[in-house]
Amino acid sequence: MTLTDVDVQGIIARVQERLGQAPSAAMPARSLAAQGNVAGEISLGEGIYRTVDDAVAAARRAQQVYAEMGLDTRRTIVEAIRSAMLREAENLAMLAVTETGLGRYEDKILKNLLVANKTPGPEDLEPVAVTGDDGMTVTEWAPMGIVGSITPTTNPTSTIINNTIAILSAGNSAVFNVHPSAKATSAENIRMINRAIVGVGGPHDLVTAVNVPTLGTAKEVMEHPDIRVLLVTGGPGVVAEALKTDKRAVAAGPGNPPVVVDETADIDRAAAAIIAGASFDNNVICVDEKEAIVVDSVADRLLRSMADQGAYVLKEHELKRLERVIFREMGPPNKPGKINGAFIGKNASVILNEIGVQVGDDVRLIVADVPNEHNLVWTEQMMPVFPVTRVPNIDVAIALAVKAEHGFRHTAGIHSTNVDSITRMARAMNCSIFVANGSFVSGLGHGGEGYSSFSIASPTGDGLTRPRTFSRPRRVSVVGALRIV
Ligand code: NAD
Repeated sequence: MTLTDVDVQGIIARVQERLGQAPSAAMPARSLAAQGNVAGEISLGEGIYRTVDDAVAAARRAQQVYAEMGLDTRRTIVEAIRSAMLREAENLAMLAVTETGLGRYEDKILKNLLVANKTPGPEDLEPVAVTGDDGMTVTEWAPMGIVGSITPTTNPTSTIINNTIAILSAGNSAVFNVHPSAKATSAENIRMINRAIVGVGGPHDLVTAVNVPTLGTAKEVMEHPDIRVLLVTGGPGVVAEALKTDKRAVAAGPGNPPVVVDETADIDRAAAAIIAGASFDNNVICVDEKEAIVVDSVADRLLRSMADQGAYVLKEHELKRLERVIFREMGPPNKPGKINGAFIGKNASVILNEIGVQVGDDVRLIVADVPNEHNLVWTEQMMPVFPVTRVPNIDVAIALAVKAEHGFRHTAGIHSTNVDSITRMARAMNCSIFVANGSFVSGLGHGGEGYSSFSIASPTGDGLTRPRTFSRPRRVSVVGALRIV
């Protein structure tokens, strides 16, 4: 899908207007995107406040009103958020790409649509009843209050939409501290959500944020006495900070998802799925395939098939040049290197251009044939540069996959028609998401069954977050009565 320049200018002009800047007809979308930022003061109102204290106070007032409104209103509000986000999916995708300079516009639209459609709603809170000789006990899911949510730059809008639907479906309000590199897009997203809520009679400020998020305001959110629960989504630093607090923390941390391909796999299908998955939004999604571990007897066929299906397979001398571009420091073998942030989330064409190779934007993935110890295998690169490494057999493949995943227990998968190998690897990985014979985004419900989440909380054991994650189970026992059969 492509937008015309007129459409793009319209979206940017509206954003600039909100940011208090004069729209610049002369500034084409690409040059704005190249700046990697949308500059300017973010105005207040519709959930956006100057201080964390104000944002929390507003969310507290809103939650108290919301709690009295009943389940039917809650359902109406969540449906209104879904509809608004479906309507705004393209605008939000364009804003996110423009402001952060990361990912692919067309994939960000799909991410927004996915979470708007497939994040579970209040129906997730089905009460559980048990009856017996001693009477009846019912468990219901109560709100926690205010949830403080810290969001990443890689999926700014899909995380806000997903977290909002899950948090509000459970009867809570949300205070966001968004990534500073996505603050304008995130503020716009929060305004749209509040507008949708108020439009169907819901309270103002069910979702709030500060206009200038920083590490300092993130800390304030984490430590605020009125915030009951934290939902942090990001890298190891923010997860460690959240786990230091005395609050209940739901922490969605980093991954390095390995995909194994064994000799029983349908190789062309595996190649197609890996290209689609590893290049989805230029590999910035935490679940995207980050390395392939391939049984040697089919490795050449897989690489050929990936090339036939449009991936660019690097020659040895090109890989050497690329390493100097994408790594700031490669580091020791079998360890992650330090990635050059300038190339995170960029298109394959932009990265290849740095080593003098010109390709079109239809080339979605760069593939490197590397030894097991190569830093690319061990690094969460978050760019469409994808290592394929060879092993003698499935046993070695599974053992290497476990090590390369670093114990994050996030996401892994396999292409195989051997149910024993699928089962053994799924057990050995012990991850929140395991995908067999599909792109890893299918584990988020995109092309696979099941609900969607963009906060996969492996470090705290919550898995794919949902309304129940932000609920407090409460039970009522009626002794000796109400079993009616
Ligand atoms: P990041 O860790 O740089 O930032 C995430 C958020 O945490 C931002 O809002 C940032 O401002 C804040 N933050 C960072 N360090 C902090 C600190 N010390 N104290 C307080 N706040 C801090 O991550 P990113 O680049 O935005 O996102 C990419 C990372 O997030 C990857 O590692 C990816 O795997 C992970 N991620 C995980 C999930 C998941 O569901 N598990 C989802 C998306 C992204």
